[in-house]
Amino acid sequence: MSDIIRILPDSVANQIAAGEVIQRPASAVKELLENAIDAGADDIKLIIKDAGKTLIQVIDNGSGMSDTDARLSFERHATSKIREANDLFIIKSLGFRGEALASIASIAHVSMKTRLHSDELGTSIEMEGFELKEHISCSCEPGTSISVKNLFFNVPARRNFLKTDTAETSHIMDEFFRIAIAHPEISFSFHHNGKVVYILDKSNLKQRIVALYGKNYNERLLTVEQRSDQISIWGFIVKAEFAKKTRGEQFFFVNKRFIKQMYLNHAVENAFKDLIPEKAFPSYFLFIDVNPATIDVNIHPTKTEVSFQDAGFVYAILRSSVKKALGLFSLSPAIDFDTDVSTLAPPAPKNYIPSPPSIQLDPDYNPFKKSGSKPLPADPLKKGAANSKNWQELYKVIENNESDLKPEQKPFASSVGSEEEIDSSQTGDISEKNIFQIHNRYIITTIKSGLIIIDKFRAYERIMYEQMMDKSENKKFSIQQLLFPQVFDLAPADAVLMKDMLNDYKDLGFDINEFGVNTFIINGIPADLKDEDVKELVENMLENFKITTLFPKVDKRQQIIISMARHLSKRISKPMHNNEMLDIVDRLFACKIPYSSPSGKNIFKAVSLEELDKML
Ligand code: ADP
Ligand code: MG
Repeated sequence: MSDIIRILPDSVANQIAAGEVIQRPASAVKELLENAIDAGADDIKLIIKDAGKTLIQVIDNGSGMSDTDARLSFERHATSKIREANDLFIIKSLGFRGEALASIASIAHVSMKTRLHSDELGTSIEMEGFELKEHISCSCEPGTSISVKNLFFNVPARRNFLKTDTAETSHIMDEFFRIAIAHPEISFSFHHNGKVVYILDKSNLKQRIVALYGKNYNERLLTVEQRSDQISIWGFIVKAEFAKKTRGEQFFFVNKRFIKQMYLNHAVENAFKDLIPEKAFPSYFLFIDVNPATIDVNIHPTKTEVSFQDAGFVYAILRSSVKKALGLFSLSPAIDFDTDVSTLAPPAPKNYIPSPPSIQLDPDYNPFKKSGSKPLPADPLKKGAANSKNWQELYKVIENNESDLKPEQKPFASSVGSEEEIDSSQTGDISEKNIFQIHNRYIITTIKSGLIIIDKFRAYERIMYEQMMDKSENKKFSIQQLLFPQVFDLAPADAVLMKDMLNDYKDLGFDINEFGVNTFIINGIPADLKDEDVKELVENMLENFKITTLFPKVDKRQQIIISMARHLSKRISKPMHNNEMLDIVDRLFACKIPYSSPSGKNIFKAVSLEELDKML
């Protein structure tokens, strides 16, 4: 066979590299802003059009470049920031891979004007898909201005992969925030489609956070400061009482570089443990300064991860610094700097044997005796009486054919209803069944061939979901105006998403409107939701939606309903009476897809006698 390996031309190699470095407009924004900072600029303008899809321009007053450097800057591995591999360990700049401009130029139309402060004339360069179109002298301001137009013009797959303008703008905002918070000493402005989004004067960190998030942050911030020769941890945490339902405002900067490292988040969350409710997230703006020789920043193409020589030490010191900040300002009763919050719980007595979970059981229960049955807690969404036949029939199917229950087998509901397969007259043994509840979560009931375990929360989610989807399809949601409208703030990037969702909320019976910068007001809610904590519900829905924006074809309304269903499942958080459990089971098996929750988790599992035998 003849030789088949060939070296790819630079243009192709660059496009491939671009796939790693530039995934979306926000990645180009990040790289260009970082270059401006590395060039020592103290005033940076960011101008974008159509969420960066049409134009991204960054203008800085940094060093500028000589004519030769300007041309070279677009070559792959062209960098002024390192000379040899060892330099990676003394790196102080944000960039060092020499890939960004080459990558951007290979997938967009780029024009650059740049001038050294000491030169009279500058250089103007036009690149198109890595081809040099123009290279001339020009008169321009000292510093550099780079415009990136028609991003991904030659990579349609990438272009099609881009999300809505709202989602892409929100990514750009995230990058802008990261850079702006890390560099309060630099003034920034941000313009989108001809409108000013932010003008940030030079300031200190606290003023910068307040400028970005609003005045009320002045009183919310607690100082974190722990300096030593090896490591300094400093910045601000937000008081525990302002913990958010979303992870939005969590920032770590290692040597001023924004990084994402889950164990660092964990360290901070651990320090906040016991001070904030479950599923709430603390906000923080924390800087970790270390000797560059003790970290490796070159472990990820987008440079958002670093590895520390001693990650365990960083974890411990970060956690204690945050605890100290919380304790010093007496947010919680005297938390000792050196004590782990988890050890504050009294230890179990010696020889203590935890009691096994108890099973709630009503031996006198007779499911056929309907007279004593109480309805579930107020459930106005309930559509008509559940058909108790459904689950008896379902059990029959389980008994007949366990393998029918694979979640991927969607037409399950129709098989339940099929007269040929099920002879409902044979399900009379139901009176002998028991129904139990364990750990206030699982409903267990016996069937002829064994038992069935149902996650009651997931079951309820499924029931609510199907009812609400039904209502949504038939446009049956009605709005009920709130006597006391509720106001809430969101992080700016979340606020962009929220605005995008307002119409969908309206269709589902929510009356939510903008109420100032990044602030919203809930005037009305679906009539069915009377008792719920709406603010929390709306925040949860947003958090859920944020996750799903990662998937391009997601149906917004469906996502909102999924979150509502999940939220409503809290209604059944108290232990249930047997007839309530039975009602849930009934209604579950009246659903179109009883086996999996709206977010795709299994709702129940049947365990055969055989399996039980094997277990023991
Ligand atoms: P890196 O930042 O990793 O060095 P880039 O491709 O981002 O690689 O940039 C290549 C080089 O171009 C940089 O090393 C720098 O010398 C020069 N450069 C890029 N942007 C600017 C700018 N805004 N001002 C001055 N020099 C710049
Ligand atoms: Mg760079």
